[in-house]
Amino acid sequence: MLNESSPSPKKINGLPKSNWCFNDFEIGRPLGRGKFGNVFLARERRTKYIVALKVLFKSQLQKADVEHQLRREIEIQSRLQHPHILNLLGWFYDDRKIYLILEYAPRGELYKELQLYGKFPENRAAKYIRQLAEALIFLHKEKVIHRDIKPENLLLGINGDLKIADFGWSVHAPSSRRTTLCGTLDYLPPEMIEGKAHDDKALSWLKIMRLFTN
Ligand code: ATP
Ligand code: MG
Repeated sequence: MLNESSPSPKKINGLPKSNWCFNDFEIGRPLGRGKFGNVFLARERRTKYIVALKVLFKSQLQKADVEHQLRREIEIQSRLQHPHILNLLGWFYDDRKIYLILEYAPRGELYKELQLYGKFPENRAAKYIRQLAEALIFLHKEKVIHRDIKPENLLLGINGDLKIADFGWSVHAPSSRRTTLCGTLDYLPPEMIEGKAHDDKALSWLKIMRLFTN
């Protein structure tokens, strides 16, 4: 069993972002399952640094024609540095798979906590709302729209702090408003369902409200 403590990210940040290979890591338990691959707990052999390794199959990405989304996920998430945004520490690939090296969020999905508690006490809900709002304000200042905010993509760090994860749908906000139908059906804002143009603000507030009303 791997030690799940989290040393400083600087240790792993020392090397160029794509200068890694599979043998640099020991693989631990599965942490979650996504549309195009699985996420595992992993430990970098040299520094013993604990990370989450998101493993994606090239064939599945090609079949679904979403290679451009993965490119955006890497570009966008690796340059964003914020306490409430999950850090993408690096990436690499081999013949069949692409690997994303992610900051490990030991307390898992907010979704699971929400299922466990049904409803959060007011102070806890307020903390999540504040941390999510801070992260969204930062994203929008950086001209990034996440487009898939939902409790499954909000992870919890070692101290229970919220971290926005899964930038698979994210885009750099253009000056014009967007019209792509995207994200997850359960959380679509009304203007998207009605086929109208949308921007970062419309996409965010409704979803935030939805997270805490059941
Ligand atoms: P989908 O598009 O289906 O939402 P995905 O393929 O983009 O999924 P992620 O959402 O990034 O994959 O990860 C899938 C799941 O793995 C998450 O919902 C979470 O449970 C777990 N997971 C992902 N990253 C981490 C992490 N850094 N630490 C802990 N658990 C994680
Ligand atoms: Mg996800």
